[in-house]
Amino acid sequence: MEDKIYFKQFDIEFVKLPLGVSGFTLEVDKRFFEKHTNDEISDADVDIRLQIEKNERFMRFEFHLTGNITLTCDICLEKLVCPVEVTETYTLRKAENEEPPSEDEHMILLPPEAYSYNVEQMVYEMIYSAVPMRKVHGDFPGQHCDQQMLDLLEAHQKNKVDTTCDPRWEVLKDLKL
Ligand SMILES: [Zn+2]
Repeated sequence: MEDKIYFKQFDIEFVKLPLGVSGFTLEVDKRFFEKHTNDEISDADVDIRLQIEKNERFMRFEFHLTGNITLTCDICLEKLVCPVEVTETYTLRKAENEEPPSEDEHMILLPPEAYSYNVEQMVYEMIYSAVPMRKVHGDFPGQHCDQQMLDLLEAHQKNKVDTTCDPRWEVLKDLKL
């Protein structure tokens, strides 16, 4: 079930903001990734400082994310905690008449009647951009692969090899079923 009150924080009602700079704090936790499911991220604890600079013509959304995300280790398949730190800036402004969408992903064109902007997709992409290619416990200070899991995986691997070498399986394989 989507937690409406929790997700309300990502709706930025910019129309209410004064000209100049305003600050927000947003919190990303497990609920965020229960809605925006991701195969790699199972949990998160990320604080976001969002600074919005508003003038007559456009707004600058400056995000600074710090915290941790929970991933799965490539080797032992157990959970690992990966620190994240991301800074991104987006410019938002109202589109002119018939103006085509911007090709710059950091330039967001808003419909003329817009009064708020939902930053969930931005936040999702910023956090996802922090997922490393290689996810291994040993790469992170103080984290180690689960030895019991490694032993299990090794035993499982051996088992698999044994069955493929078993001559009875070889015979079965040749049968045209
Ligand atoms: Zn591991």
